[in-house]
Amino acid sequence: MNELYPWQADVFADLQQRRAQGRLAHALLISGPVGIGKQQLANVFSQSLLCAEPQADGLACGQCHACSLYAAETHPDLFRISPEEDSKVIKIDQIRALIEKMSLSSHYGRYRVVILNPADAMNIAAANSLLKTLEEPPADTVLLLITDRPSFLPATIRSRCQSLRLALPPVEMAQAWLAVQLDNPRDAAVLLGLAGGAPLAAEALATEQLARRNSLLQGWQELAVGKADPVKLAAEWVKPDLHLPISWVYGWVADMIRLRSGSADRLTNEDAKATLQKLAQELDLTRLYGLLDRVLETIKLTHSQVNSQTLMEGILLYWSNIPRNKLSGQAK
Ligand SMILES: [Zn+2]
Repeated sequence: MNELYPWQADVFADLQQRRAQGRLAHALLISGPVGIGKQQLANVFSQSLLCAEPQADGLACGQCHACSLYAAETHPDLFRISPEEDSKVIKIDQIRALIEKMSLSSHYGRYRVVILNPADAMNIAAANSLLKTLEEPPADTVLLLITDRPSFLPATIRSRCQSLRLALPPVEMAQAWLAVQLDNPRDAAVLLGLAGGAPLAAEALATEQLARRNSLLQGWQELAVGKADPVKLAAEWVKPDLHLPISWVYGWVADMIRLRSGSADRLTNEDAKATLQKLAQELDLTRLYGLLDRVLETIKLTHSQVNSQTLMEGILLYWSNIPRNKLSGQAK
């Protein structure tokens, strides 16, 4: 189901107002930074234009025949144009095919909607071919051109579209939304900062980082049972740099201490509790604190001249060689 992001409510209401007053441009150029949901806004708006019985706020009903066609991606009055597979450009053939389809009348007697994304992927021939349509658009047709880089579009295209420039959402709103999406809401502020304030980009970053952290945690477990080579692992972990991995190691060790000392009510890695619990059981608290000191020392040295690989090898070797209590049948 298409839903607006909270920061898009105002711009959507404005679009609906223009529509109600008959001031809706036949071509809108939706621009703004990567990762703020431009495509999503175009989706929600296009569905609302196609819906037979939109709600009072303009949002699509989600129930009518048009809405079910839309949901199945088979609405005959909706045209999505993007670079074809293995290509980075929108080609003239795609625009020609679009123009041909638009020469027929709409199937349901309502709007026809074209979504071009990213519009700046049109090559010159494609853009020129679209110009005529922009100058003399077929009736009840709305073209939504989406781009992160409006300056890459020919001026002739830009000047024939109404510009809808979307800004980054207010930080507080973006952070509140992001916190709900994350496994670890406390990361919201940092991730949003890393993503330059774009909430969807921050979410993608979190997914990417989580996958990496999980893969590193797997290696950490293998080291504990002598199934991995610390030197080889260290070489992987320091790419592209060691700051995140070492901060993850710190989090794991701190959580192991919490688990070992029975104060596990607020773990940093709640999702990895079972794994960390198992690792912690094999170690005395004294050894865990020794490990924590070693990690803290390493963190301090990350800002020194000491080679990253050497630092990471040091901590991984320490971890793999730490004396463990023999648990049932555990081979070391
Ligand atoms: Zn509907």
